[in-house]
Amino acid sequence: MIARTLACLLLSASLFDTAQARGYRYSDAHLHYVDFFQETEGMPALLKAMDEAGVEQSMISGIPVAKKWHEDEPKRPRYYAGDDADAYWYSATDLYVAAALEKLPVEQRRRFHPFLTGFNPVDKNAVSHIERMLELYPGLWQGIGEVFTRHDDLTALTSGDTPRANNEAMTRIYHLAAERDLPVLLHSNITSKRERNPLYLAEIEEPLRNHPHTRFIWAHAGSSMEIHRHQERMDFLLPVLSRLLEDYPNLYVDLSWSVLEPYLLDEQGVPRKAWVDLVVRFPERFMLGSDVVGRFASIGEQMHAFNPFLDALPAAVAEQVSRRNFLDLLPKNVK
Ligand SMILES: [Zn+2]
Repeated sequence: MIARTLACLLLSASLFDTAQARGYRYSDAHLHYVDFFQETEGMPALLKAMDEAGVEQSMISGIPVAKKWHEDEPKRPRYYAGDDADAYWYSATDLYVAAALEKLPVEQRRRFHPFLTGFNPVDKNAVSHIERMLELYPGLWQGIGEVFTRHDDLTALTSGDTPRANNEAMTRIYHLAAERDLPVLLHSNITSKRERNPLYLAEIEEPLRNHPHTRFIWAHAGSSMEIHRHQERMDFLLPVLSRLLEDYPNLYVDLSWSVLEPYLLDEQGVPRKAWVDLVVRFPERFMLGSDVVGRFASIGEQMHAFNPFLDALPAAVAEQVSRRNFLDLLPKNVK
């Protein structure tokens, strides 16, 4: 009996050591240099936060819309949901990202992987804007996105028609992405705030099927904090995701915040076995993101929050998810 207790103690001590000893380094696959007002804390603050958090490499993009301070609003809103004023498509966001990167010494610039985001995804001319930007900054851009399509309240507040991931404007962009070897980070909610079924699944599935040569990163696996505010954990998310990963080798998944809780971790912060098993089954397809917008102090907190989940994975898989998978997805000429 004593021997068994001792063995148990030794076993749990060694498990504890393994988790402690891993010392994760991260690649952040989802980061916005500016906020919804196109403002930023700036590059020194970003680099400091990355260094402190152990983030070696980071995707970097602008925000494709600007929230208006409406003429009728006496107080300036602090977030896009702050009041009823709309947000509008804003292309200059890409220039801010490019300008910030161009000022950096080469060894710092190498830590960033800029994605183009400043276009209207319901405009069939958007692809021409992307082509012009690629021409204007040769070799700079390494991906497209985050593209905002179905995004609950933000969609409702954005001027013009609702973007769908399977519309014609996006179809043209996916062709270009395949041709130029650029991954696409796509925000496309799997459902609306109130429907307890995968209402908009076809909008993401159609491009996955029709563009096998385009690499898609599905932001938050189609979940959102706003959906959670209105309904329980979506029990269909894991089976749907599992089927999509099986059927479409061009699908990659960003696990950032609205996936971490309540999906990867339960209410006690314990990793859910079904999600651990899913990631182990598709070890090359998942990545982490902070999804910070313009302010960077919380990068460490966001990324380290994944540690309990990473600890539940075999060490090699945890390394792929925390660092490797995002880098492997980038265009061949930057690897
Ligand atoms: Zn985002």
